[in-house]
Amino acid sequence: MSTNTTTKTAGIHHITAFVRNPQQTTDFYAGVLGLRLVKKTINFDAPEVYHLYFGDDVGSPGTIITFFPWAESRKGRVGGGQVGITSYVVPAGAYSFWRERLTKLGVEAQETERFGEQYLQFTDPDGLRGEIVAREEGQLSKWSFGGIPADMAIKGFGGAVLFSTAPSSTGKLLENVMGLEKVGEDAGFVRYKAFGDLGNIIDVNVEVMAPGSGGSGTVHHIAWRAKDDVEHEAWRQHVAASGFQPTPIVDRQYFNAIYFREEGGILFEIATDPPGFAKDEEALHLGEKLMLPAWYEKHRSEIEKLLLPFEVRELEMK
Ligand code: ZN
Repeated sequence: MSTNTTTKTAGIHHITAFVRNPQQTTDFYAGVLGLRLVKKTINFDAPEVYHLYFGDDVGSPGTIITFFPWAESRKGRVGGGQVGITSYVVPAGAYSFWRERLTKLGVEAQETERFGEQYLQFTDPDGLRGEIVAREEGQLSKWSFGGIPADMAIKGFGGAVLFSTAPSSTGKLLENVMGLEKVGEDAGFVRYKAFGDLGNIIDVNVEVMAPGSGGSGTVHHIAWRAKDDVEHEAWRQHVAASGFQPTPIVDRQYFNAIYFREEGGILFEIATDPPGFAKDEEALHLGEKLMLPAWYEKHRSEIEKLLLPFEVRELEMK
């Protein structure tokens, strides 16, 4: 069994999804949701595709939603083996501000309830599902954009709803390997809680769900937090000893990563909190320039020609 029974994740580090157009995605995640573009780089495995990171003012772990925009991407289908819904948490008392804001910006939203909490659910322009929930927990954002005062702004992830093809296995993994605690069952979901105060509430479907298919409008993977490189190495051993097949540690420039596929079909990553996004840009100017890792810098001009220009801009209210 486990080599390290004290290994527990604080919660979600980041979530990564496929979309089609960088401007459309930026208009939604910066323009509508008010997140900060904290890094504009490329997919290190496919340099003709951007990798865009949005989060709080510094891209703190637990706040980072990332995208690979690729025009030719086939359309995916949200379903089993994926993060089905990404939850964003706003301060207690900010719920009606967000209901009004989405209406004014022409984003349709449905209201629903789980575990006694009210959720505002929407889809982004590619079909990715998201929701807003208000909670006391979690530090206020320091970022203000597009008419959202910092005390109303998204603080980060509330958590995620996992759509599993083998929900009891996914639940056991969350409890026995990732170190979350099972806290209840409601509305067809089992709820698990991590010890952090952002990205810490994970709901898993109770009934087996048919597999979705990958492509634009779907989440590619969910990454969990490891506090540093020492703990990361322990995580790799712990995941392997628990019967999963983690990849070797990969350098993702702003964190180190390992990946493994869980039994419910969802791709899990474990990512280190350090070094973070101020590694190669000043905190004041995050996300303004295309940042390339050293090994791609000599190809900068060819790479830039392949990428569609886009900008962070304020949207007009209706
Ligand atoms: Zn990742």
